[in-house]
Parts: sequence; structure tokens; C-alpha cells
Amino acid sequence: MSSPASLPQIHRHSFDVAICGAGGAGLMAALSASDKGLRVACITKVPPTRSHTVAAQGGINAALGNVVPDDWRWHMYDTVRGGDWLGDQDAIAFMCESAPKAIARLEHWGLPFSRDALGNIYQRAYGGQATDFGRGGQAYRACASADRTGHALLHTLHQQCLKRGVRFFTEFLCLDLIMRPDGSCGGVLALEVETGELHAFAAHATVLATGGYGQIYHFTTASSICTGDGGGMALRAGLPLQDMEFIQFHPTGIYGSGILITEGARGEGGILLNSEGERFMQRYAPKTAELASRDVICRAILTEIREKRGCGPQKDHVLLQLSHLGEKTLHERLPAITGLAKTFADVDAAKAPIPVVPTVHYTMGGIPTNRHTEVLRPTKREPHATVPGLFAAGEAACASVHGANRLGCNSLLDLVVFGDEAGRRIAELLGKRPALPDLPAKLLEPALTHFSLLWSADGTEHAHSLRADLQACLQNHAGVYREGADLETGVRKLESIAERLAYAGLADRSRLWNSGFVELVETENLLQQALTVMHAALARTESRGAHFRHDHPDRDDRRWLAHSLTTMDEYGRVTFTTRPVTLAAGELAFPPEERVY
Ligand SMILES: Cc1cc2nc3c(=O)[nH]c(=O)nc-3n(C[C@H](O)[C@H](O)[C@H](O)COP(=O)(O)OP(=O)(O)OC[C@H]3O[C@@H](n4cnc5c(N)ncnc54)[C@H](O)[C@@H]3O)c2cc1C
Repeated sequence: MSSPASLPQIHRHSFDVAICGAGGAGLMAALSASDKGLRVACITKVPPTRSHTVAAQGGINAALGNVVPDDWRWHMYDTVRGGDWLGDQDAIAFMCESAPKAIARLEHWGLPFSRDALGNIYQRAYGGQATDFGRGGQAYRACASADRTGHALLHTLHQQCLKRGVRFFTEFLCLDLIMRPDGSCGGVLALEVETGELHAFAAHATVLATGGYGQIYHFTTASSICTGDGGGMALRAGLPLQDMEFIQFHPTGIYGSGILITEGARGEGGILLNSEGERFMQRYAPKTAELASRDVICRAILTEIREKRGCGPQKDHVLLQLSHLGEKTLHERLPAITGLAKTFADVDAAKAPIPVVPTVHYTMGGIPTNRHTEVLRPTKREPHATVPGLFAAGEAACASVHGANRLGCNSLLDLVVFGDEAGRRIAELLGKRPALPDLPAKLLEPALTHFSLLWSADGTEHAHSLRADLQACLQNHAGVYREGADLETGVRKLESIAERLAYAGLADRSRLWNSGFVELVETENLLQQALTVMHAALARTESRGAHFRHDHPDRDDRRWLAHSLTTMDEYGRVTFTTRPVTLAAGELAFPPEERVY
């Protein structure tokens, strides 16, 4: 990249709280902070109701016990087990205990939950969830709004934010955090995409709620905006990312397109078949079959394919059969996915099975926080040190409630519980309403220098081809099954893509709606996170949850019952360390045991 470009106009704003992101987590944080009387800015690169949360289908977990008796402690045990003991149990206990109250609030705000015959909230079965600490039968915990739960949730929260007068800055791209010399966060710099002008937001508290980084893969159910921008901003501020190697593949992406068929389809009774018409999951998980956890089912499907029992001419997928559920159930409980099956696989799910294959779905890693959503900057001496003024929630964050593998329907819950906690904790830390903050111009300099370097990009490499190459690299070298030598090759390939990024060029120089610039910013964020994923996957020489190494097939609690932390220096070099997992929540503690379904 050549010499820095001249800067556009910079607008200044002051708020108590600046929230980057208007998905479920960002909106919930905005709602909660404004309920405490704080002045809130919600900055978002897409209109709020287009955030990826809108695509969530299956449901949101809470131990309401509307179908069979339930207890939040059973929900907690399932979450700890689902995450293969990598989750922090204080955060998990907080989330599961808060869940029933969170659902009641959503209901009162008008979320149109599906109902049972008695008028109670309808709850469906989901994978990896049982009663009585895994000893009882299937749990029914996922509260659903048909198969459009995320849509209902996002619109409900958006309306509540509008009612409270949250200020939205829509189609503004957050670029970098503004850090103070004492290591605290003072706000964020954003680009107004429509005008090409810059906006510096000074804030007592900045919340990163920018969603996951699923777009580092070629085949993913995550929308194209899921580029993990918050993670990139954290890395450039010298902060670590946690557990980045844990990428969740969903067993049932539609073959060919990767579009999601919700786990709710199996929760309603859908079954998986191989080319011999066999319900193969009964061999891999005798107790739970199609309702084992997602990582277990993905590995089973890929084993079937590898052993030549895959379907179709290439024998490279399996079949999800729903036809035996009957048209009435499909119409009432799964209307959206029957439409998706028709559009993307040309299949009438009431008559024929849907071809499916594992597809990247969720990123367990992210910006490390404690259970109050305060961002951590752990050191050996102070493993719980926080970054004053900086918070993170939702898929961008790693609290860590999902550990090495997330249970279905625990993410929407995570958004609502920790979004709410962010607002509460910020208000608590700020105390009596303080004067609005200011930012000395000097503090903006690192963020402005970075902006003008990207804006002046005049090389020959295109962001879209760099993005495609890094997606192919992750797809080929960091899939469901991994191996040391393969990961090493992946690291080298990513390093060469990073070198090419220095020769990127912008074809369009216009200030107005420069989508090429947006793509370049997102590509840099993707690349930085891809590097941390590949390095962390190489460093973790064990198999746990979604991270499976052929060369280290066993879980190794002695060495690896630890969160991984990856940081990046200004030359893109990645450093790897670990920090301990929190294994108890007060008197409740679930020590590691073998994970069987
Ligand atoms: C297809 C699909 C189905 C799912 N189904 C379920 C389900 O049934 N149940 C469940 O629990 N989970 C489900 N999940 C997971 C869950 O939906 C997500 O983890 C969750 O919605 C993420 O919410 P979020 O608020 O963290 O981020 P998102 O909803 O992704 O929102 C991110 C926000 O950040 C903003 N943003 C990002 N970068 C920037 C930037 N640089 N500047 C400004 N703004 C920025 C975006 O504009 C957006 O508003 C599903 C996921 C997918 C992909």
C-alpha cells in the first residue's frame, strides 16, 4: 500500500455507551443500558433487522418444563458436557439460571412464541439435552416461534429499542477501537458508508457485539456479513482472542448451497439415512441417535461418506428424512425449512428426503470476557485482568459458555442473557450518571493511520480473491477432521495470503458507498482471525468438542483443560498461550468425565 490518503471529514459524538452491532446481543445491550438511564449509540453496518440473528430458526433454550419436568441445573450440566468441559462454569450457571426469566421478559415484550394446546410456550427437543444430569430422558427446552425464532426475537428487541429512544447509526462500519494510554477503551472510530465520512464515538463503555467469523470458511450457514470485525478490532488493539480453534459444523446444511436445515427438524423426529437406507446414527450414539451433539453427528456423517455409504453419484452427502412427520407438522412447526428445501434442493420435504452435508455454522471462540461481559486481558500474574471501558457479548464474545462445542438454541439465550448483563454491569460500574466523555484528537491517530493506509490501497490484489483464497484454505486445512501437517500447510498458505494483502488495491476511489473499501476492511478482519484459528488448531494437540485431530484423537485434560489465547503483533505474527478454565460455580461443580451420548 502506498502513502496515506487525505482524511475525510470527522464528526465527533459523545455517549455513555457505544455498541458496535445491532444483532440480538447488541440490541439487548442497548435496551438494557437505556433502561438504566444511559445514553446509548448503536452502530451497525447493516440495518438492525438484517443482522444474522434474523436467520436463527430452531429456538432458544430455557428449563421451563412445559413438556416434561426440567431444572436449570440439568441445563447447566448439558451445556458443560456439550462443551466438553471447556466452558467456564460460573458463566454457564449464570446463563442457565437466568434463562426462564429472560424468556418471560421476551414474552412480555411481545415475542410471538408458538404455543401448546394449553397455551403454554411450545418447547421442542434439541440435541445433547437430557433431564436429570444426563441420566434421564430427552429434555424439551427449546422455546420456538415456529422455525423463525431469530426473526421474531430480533424484531421484538428492535421495536423495544425504538420505543426507548436508542440512537441508531445504521450502515456505519466500525473500523477500530480508540484506546487510551492507560490501556482502557475510550470509544470507536466508524465510517459512514453512505457519505464516506468518519465518525469518532467517545464513550465511557464500548460494547463489541459484532457477531461471529463464520465467513472464514467457503461453506457456511453464516451470512456474508459475519466477518468477525470485532475480533479484528480487538487483535489490532493488542488484545487476545480465545478458543478460536473451536468451529462448529452443523450436520445438516443443504448439499450444494450450505443453507441451514434447523436441528429442530431432528427435534421434531427427522432421521438421517445413508445410501443403504440405514439410520446410521443409532450405531454412533445408541441412546440419542439424531439428537447427539452436533460435533458427534458431523463426524459420523463424514465417516459414513469416507466408508462409501454416502448418497448421490459422488457418494458425498447423506439424507435427512422428514416425510414421515406428515404435512401438518411440517406446515405448523417447520414451514420455513420446507420452503428452503424446495428452493435450494428442489425437494418437497413432505414426499422426499433432503440431501445434507456438514457445514460451518458457529464460532465458539472470540473476545474473552468474564461473566459480566467485561473484556479480559489476562496475564500470568493476573488471569482475570479486565480492559476498563470495553465489553463484548454474543457470538463475537467468548464468555465462555459454549466451551468446545455449542448446544443448539444456547446462542440466542447467550445473546439475551449477556446482552442484558452488559447493560446492567456498565450502569453499575459508571455509578451516578457521569458527564459525557471526550476524546483528545491525539488518541484517534492510530485508528486514522490504519484507515488512510487501507483507503490509499493502490496495488493489484483484489479483496474478493484474497477472501476466496482464505476461505478455501480454511475449508481444506481446518475442517471437521484435522491433522498437524495439514494445519502447518494451512498456516503457510495464510501467511502468503497476508503478504498479498499488503498489495491490495481499490478499483473505486469514490467516497460514496464504496463497497470495495468495506470488503477490504472485512477481508483484513477475516484474515487476522483465520490466522489465529489455524495457529490455535495447530497448537492444541488433543481432540475436544468440535476440534478433532487425527494425530491426537484423545482428550488430554492434564495438558489441555485450558482456554487458548492468541494475540497478533503489528507484523501479523501470532503468539499462543493458555489460561485456566473455571470449573465450578459456587457449590455447583461438574468435574470432567467421559462424554458419551
Ligand atoms: C442460519 C443460522 C441459524 C441459527 N439458528 C439458531 C437457533 O435456532 N438458535 C440459537 O440459539 N442460535 C442459532 N444460530 C446462532 C445465532 O443465531 C447467532 O450466534 C447469533 O444470532 C449471533 O448474534 P449476535 O448478536 O452476536 O450477532 P449478529 O446477529 O450476527 O449481528 C452482528 C451485528 O454486528 C454488526 N456489525 C458487524 N460488524 C460490524 C462493523 N464493523 N461495524 C458496525 N456493525 C457491525 C452487524 O451489522 C450486526 O448488526 C443460528 C445461526 C445461523 C447462521
